[in-house]
Amino acid sequence: MPEPILFYSTNRRTDPVTFRDALLKGLAPDKGLFMPQQIPLLTAEEISQFAGQAYHEIAFSVCGKFLQGQLPEKDLAALSKDAYDFPVPLQAVQDRRFVMRLDQGPTASFKDFAARLMGRLINYYLRLETKKLLILTATSGDTGSAIANAFYGLDNVQVLVLFPEKEVTPRQRRQMTTLGNNVKIIAIDGKFDHCQALVKEAFADSQLDYLPLSSANSINIGRLVPQIVYYFYAYSRLRRFPGETAVFSIPSGNFGDMMGSLLAMRMGLPVKRLVIATNENDEFPRYLASGAYRPIEPSRHCISSAMNVGHPSNLARLIDLYGGRMDEKGVIHDVADLDRMRREIFAVSVNDDETRHTIRSAYEQHGLLLEPHGAVGWAGLEKYRQQHGEANDQLCVSLETAHPAKFPEEIRAILGFDPPLPSSLEGLEAKEELFMHMANDYHSFREFLKKHYS
Ligand SMILES: *Cc1c(COP(=O)(O)O)cnc(C)c1O
Repeated sequence: MPEPILFYSTNRRTDPVTFRDALLKGLAPDKGLFMPQQIPLLTAEEISQFAGQAYHEIAFSVCGKFLQGQLPEKDLAALSKDAYDFPVPLQAVQDRRFVMRLDQGPTASFKDFAARLMGRLINYYLRLETKKLLILTATSGDTGSAIANAFYGLDNVQVLVLFPEKEVTPRQRRQMTTLGNNVKIIAIDGKFDHCQALVKEAFADSQLDYLPLSSANSINIGRLVPQIVYYFYAYSRLRRFPGETAVFSIPSGNFGDMMGSLLAMRMGLPVKRLVIATNENDEFPRYLASGAYRPIEPSRHCISSAMNVGHPSNLARLIDLYGGRMDEKGVIHDVADLDRMRREIFAVSVNDDETRHTIRSAYEQHGLLLEPHGAVGWAGLEKYRQQHGEANDQLCVSLETAHPAKFPEEIRAILGFDPPLPSSLEGLEAKEELFMHMANDYHSFREFLKKHYS
């Protein structure tokens, strides 16, 4: 097998490891995030061939570049085929503008794309090595259910999900709390950033060294790699001639999705510009404009709740990709190439009023049904097009990251009807919920871990 690509830590105080090791560890021992030492290039020929391939075949090719030598090709092909058994619709909206719906998976958000392949890869290695893992995950609403669903019922994995009690919708909560079995759920009296901080503290806690902890948040490189794929997929279906450039608009919170798009671009996808659209948690647009990074503490509560992130973990990766260095606390030690970042990324903040207005106007003008996250992406794209006087025939793809039925309260208030329920969300109300409440307090969390897991 060819030489494997190794993964280094953004803090640079850990020796590079293989994909398998990075996947099972989650966070590097020096608290940095793993990044690939080389970014494999796809040839124009390979990209052209995607046009005739199914989603799972493109996923096999793209992920396989990072996984060379880490598992037999036929095994990766089988895992990919099993993971991606649902449609990925590209909805034509107007001229050359499209919405890619990443909401057709079993938990109705784009988090399924990463969770399903990552879950299968982790399970693959654990089975091979008869190992066990405890997956700790903080969720802003959708990661929790995607991860819980992807690992549900697996013998070698326990899953513990922390969610901010007041910041997920009842339907999102039910998607996690009605599973049971190897899945435990805790409601934290706090925000997503607090949940994420509790998880990170557990990883760094030497008293918990005996626990086989891993992370399923987008700090895990195993989640980022599958998120490269749908950019190639969209392009393979929509481009009219070889080398045609595309603009992608990505509603962003913790910036895992943005990292996927950037890696796709570095692998050779002809991207004209990436639009990174945040809600009122605008620390990134401000950073890009000024070069100074200031986390938002506490994060602002917006209706696109899965993006209420005041200190996105993956910024450390972004800054690393542009030649800088940021530590786990958000302190920048080496500055990144901001000029290049500005050429490649257009960052924009969309407030709740604009989000609601976009949901209404998209539906009235185009019959396009968006939920709050997808509306932030679409509004961001429209702002970009206006500011740059973008031509109508420029290929643009905006990501819809969740199904509107996950946010029925908001849609009903704006559009006056209930979004149709996909079959994956049916029957949740009738199931029994099981979860704990906990204060935002590390001591209690540690005691819980000691008591329930050995
Ligand atoms: C998680 C999530 C996002 C943000 O994705 P990041 O990779 O964290 O930037 C956007 N929309 C929805 C619906 C999500 O669940």
